[in-house]
Amino acid sequence: MKSINYLLVLFLFAFAACNNTSTEQNIESNEHKAEVTTEHEAHAESDDPCAHAKEHADGHWSYEGETGPEYWSCLSGEYKSCTGNHQSPIDIDEALEEKDLGELALDYAVTDGLSFINNGHTVQVNFKGDNNKLTLNGIEYKLKQFHFHAPSEHTFKGEAAAGELHMVHVSDDGDISVIGIMLEEGEENAMLATILGSMPTEVDGKNEIAASLNPMELLPEDQSCYTYSGSLTTPPCSEGVNWFVMKNKVTVSAEQLAALEGAVPENNARPVQPLNDRKVSTIE
Ligand SMILES: [Zn+2]
Repeated sequence: MKSINYLLVLFLFAFAACNNTSTEQNIESNEHKAEVTTEHEAHAESDDPCAHAKEHADGHWSYEGETGPEYWSCLSGEYKSCTGNHQSPIDIDEALEEKDLGELALDYAVTDGLSFINNGHTVQVNFKGDNNKLTLNGIEYKLKQFHFHAPSEHTFKGEAAAGELHMVHVSDDGDISVIGIMLEEGEENAMLATILGSMPTEVDGKNEIAASLNPMELLPEDQSCYTYSGSLTTPPCSEGVNWFVMKNKVTVSAEQLAALEGAVPENNARPVQPLNDRKVSTIE
């Protein structure tokens, strides 16, 4: 319909331009043209949220423009979940109820064989093996990677932090649990200091990390957190993700923050999504 209207407008425009000897015909054509143009605009602005999305066969997405967050669901049939009702991130205003989840059981150890990648959306440290895990309701989720967003994706009472780390854990069945850690500018982060020299600043860059590290050192000392059911914050926006967002922030130095920000797209944070029928709980 859209393309037909375009053709019609083009045709009428050409028609009017070629018939400037007949004033009457011109007025008639221009009137018709205006009608068609208005109809086209109304169509584009009203019912089709994908009207301004750019089609990319390869599912390319970004954080701005025609491939930005508001159009993710338009970019691929596999991204339909991005318009779901249980999406992430969210603004965390207050925990509405205490949920009896018991403890957040983390079993992390000193790990080596890590690699640092830059995928054009974020910078990410990949883990091999399964010696780092989170256990929830008897199910083990293995730490696969952590990556970086700036500013933070989750917000507390509408306020974003300078950055957010996501530690992504996956169970044998493919279920996902993510720990979110808010970053604020302050003292140097000792653990990041050991690996930032290996961070690839170019898209598609990959470096092996010579140092070993214990992921526990990424977490704040007090691991009380908010928890809710959400989604991946990037396409395909799959839902059913168990989120644990640490209440306490950890610090990174201004230099570390600048290095991280310089390696990722500006503002690689999806806007907060409606809470809808979900509840945010706390684990103390
Ligand atoms: Zn993330």
